[in-house]
Amino acid sequence: MTFDRNQLPDPSAFFESRGIEFRERRGRWRTTACRRPGCDGTMLANACTGAFTCMTESCTFRGGDVLSFEMETTGADFMAAARALGVLIEDSRSSATAMPEVGHE
Ligand SMILES: [Zn+2]
Repeated sequence: MTFDRNQLPDPSAFFESRGIEFRERRGRWRTTACRRPGCDGTMLANACTGAFTCMTESCTFRGGDVLSFEMETTGADFMAAARALGVLIEDSRSSATAMPEVGHE
């Protein structure tokens, strides 16, 4: 099984598919309400990279890509989130215990 970061969905389309409405339609960084339950802060999301961060200092809702967002909002672990986003390539030749390659950014 291989993790293919290039298969990650377009961030702005992904966020919209998760019911997020941005206050802007253009630009790289967009603002919306934080998705963490109990937090009424403003979240910044990057429409190009999928990075997101809540502006509330005490809130830890942040991540570097749409995969992190999927994990933060659904509680899924890395593999489950990657599978949900369709970025795990099933490869019958690789060992079932092989870890996917994770890009470092
Ligand atoms: Zn927040």
